[in-house]
Amino acid sequence: MTAIDEAAIRAALESIAVPARGGGNVVELGMISRIVVRNGHVGFAIEIEPGEREALEPVRRACEDAARALPGVVSATAALTAERRGAPAPAAAGGTDDVAAIIAVASGKGGVGKSTVAVNLALGIASLGRRAGLLDADIYGPSQPRLLGLSGKPYSPDGKTLEPMRGHGVPCMSMGLLVDEETPVVWRGPMVQSALSQMLGDVRWGALDVLVVDMPPGTGDAQLTMAQRVPLAGAVIVSTPQDLALLDARRGLAMFRKVNVPTLGIVENMSYYVCPSCGDRAHIFGHGGARETAERMGAPFLGEAPLDPAIRETSDSGRPIVASAPDSPQARAFIAIARRVLDRLDSGGGAKPAPSISVR
Ligand code: ADP
Repeated sequence: MTAIDEAAIRAALESIAVPARGGGNVVELGMISRIVVRNGHVGFAIEIEPGEREALEPVRRACEDAARALPGVVSATAALTAERRGAPAPAAAGGTDDVAAIIAVASGKGGVGKSTVAVNLALGIASLGRRAGLLDADIYGPSQPRLLGLSGKPYSPDGKTLEPMRGHGVPCMSMGLLVDEETPVVWRGPMVQSALSQMLGDVRWGALDVLVVDMPPGTGDAQLTMAQRVPLAGAVIVSTPQDLALLDARRGLAMFRKVNVPTLGIVENMSYYVCPSCGDRAHIFGHGGARETAERMGAPFLGEAPLDPAIRETSDSGRPIVASAPDSPQARAFIAIARRVLDRLDSGGGAKPAPSISVR
């Protein structure tokens, strides 16, 4: 099998002309960026000016076809991305054109509280006066509808786009709202990609300051492609203090580095247990590992949340702690994390400018 690399893809894309720009091909016009090749799956971005999205959709498709036609390429996905300059683009019928920053909440393995952190982070950002949304991209085990107490199906005003559903004031979209919980769905790479694109592009998110994406757990190919596919301003890695989880957290950090997504920082969840009778903090899993890992890897430490039955119980009943008891110490821990995430975004800690995106 022919090895595919960035050079081969660029060479293939040189055949794609851009009539809307008065000729020239996508490569010589400098429009191709962030090429990623993994096990035959190819992904890249096509940089456009805001407003060019419709005119350049045929170019995007032609680029995908050209890449897919290369020997050894299993799938090819191209995303049109426009960087926000000056005033925000007018809100589109659907999509993320008016979303200032998309951030991923990820973990190296399941069960560390990634979804719990994601929902409380989104609610925390909202409690600080910013417009937050929550996209549940954990399409293998979507849990956000349960955490936000959502039921029923999202409304489609025109048969093409979907209104997000709101839980505690935060707009949310999740595969769990679109398919029945009992439906056994075997998701393969390309299906995962299109589900995600639709949840980004065909949902009327409206104007948001931050869209929090609850990623699937782990650092496999599907996660990597997804991290590459979504125009992320940054990633938050959730870990428990156990060493093994931290090893996984390191893999999470490495994954986002590979696709050039800046790490906003690490959150240590289930960090300590507050004894209900004496109020002492017990570090039953060991403590401080996430902070040390963060420092060693040059990633900021965003804070810690306690292991607390109230956090699980409120989540299970669809009333996450930040919404149901915002003044509790547990909620304050999540709100402090939200504040640090916003500080990082505001200070350009995401390194790249917040993208204004169209994803197809
Ligand atoms: P993940 O998304 O990483 O798989 P979840 O957010 O679904 O993890 O959390 C796994 C379980 O742990 C859930 O039952 C959740 O309620 C519980 N949990 C998560 N964080 C905490 C916490 N800080 N204190 C107590 N229980 C927690």
